[in-house]
Amino acid sequence: MSKVHVIVAETRGGKLRQVTFEAVQAARQAGGGDRLAAVLIGAGVGSLADELAGAGVDAVHVIDSPALEFYNPEVYGAALNALLDRLQPDTVIFGHTAIGRDLAPAAAAHLQAGQISDVTAIERSGADVLFTRPVYAGKAFEQKKRTGGGPLVVTVRPNNIAPAAADGAAGTASVTAEAYDAPPSLRTVIKDVVRKMSGRVDLAEAKIVVSGGRGVKSADGFKPLEELAGVLNAAVGASRGACDAGYCDYALQIGQTGKVVTPEIYIACGISGAIQHLAGMSQSRIIIAINKDAEAPIFKVADYGIVGDLFDVVPLLTEEFRKALA
Ligand code: FAD
Repeated sequence: MSKVHVIVAETRGGKLRQVTFEAVQAARQAGGGDRLAAVLIGAGVGSLADELAGAGVDAVHVIDSPALEFYNPEVYGAALNALLDRLQPDTVIFGHTAIGRDLAPAAAAHLQAGQISDVTAIERSGADVLFTRPVYAGKAFEQKKRTGGGPLVVTVRPNNIAPAAADGAAGTASVTAEAYDAPPSLRTVIKDVVRKMSGRVDLAEAKIVVSGGRGVKSADGFKPLEELAGVLNAAVGASRGACDAGYCDYALQIGQTGKVVTPEIYIACGISGAIQHLAGMSQSRIIIAINKDAEAPIFKVADYGIVGDLFDVVPLLTEEFRKALA
């Protein structure tokens, strides 16, 4: 029997998250020509099964129940583990998101599997599958080779592996509605979830991030950055310095103790470039730094640097991008 590799899909706001399609591609790279099965868990998610099927998986298993409206590790974990017991996967792939980071170790413990987290690339070398992941806060990369039998759990960092195209023929995959059996008792019940979005674009998956540091000087100081982000369809992020100063919410924090982002373009405004901040953004494809101190460490990692006052530079950039993109 051929091996099966399972992708655990994630949704937000009634849509499949891009990291799900990246996980499909990761499963394809890890599995060669093996079978791919996606698991879709949530409330009212059944309508997304065809789109997921169109990404080139062989099967979609849908666990759809009103009881799964809000993510709760006890509930989602029980639903997922029961299905994994039946599927007997070779690999289980999650997005390296808040939910994926929470669920993956529980699935690994349940399956008695090894886990490789925060994978940024997967390649095959002969019979070997090699997983690349950053270490030392992104200062170096290690490559892990899968050895031995038994299942493996993997989380993939958003925005690193090219997503599988979602335009395939949905008819080729089987879609199965799975029963949801509630755990007999719950330690936690989630009543509601209040989302703190960084503007309109999801920070973890944004192609462009405009980020502000203590140099913005106040909550109002973020306004020019939000305008620039609006023109570029970008997400707004922040350094911990800006969060600690109360200029913005901690949901925006990027870095070692915040979110890790890998956008195409990262624009750092009034951020000094402390090592803990770099841990969250140094893998961005192009880094643009705006800082009035020419000696600021952020310029060491920047591809383009502008030495100047962000309150002069950011509105000029916004105007020029607005004209260029019109
Ligand atoms: P500052 O270091 O004060 O830099 C402000 C910069 O703005 C300066 O370079 C200044 O030249 C420039 N500036 C000022 N005014 C202007 C202007 N008008 N125009 C242009 N430039 C201007 N930090 C994070 O960011 N993320 C983390 O996850 C994180 N985790 C941490 C974990 C630990 C355990 C510790 C100890 C620290 C952590 N930090 C983290 C904090 C980190 O060490 C720095 O203190 C923080 O990143 C500094 O934020 P900043 O660059 O905004 O502020």
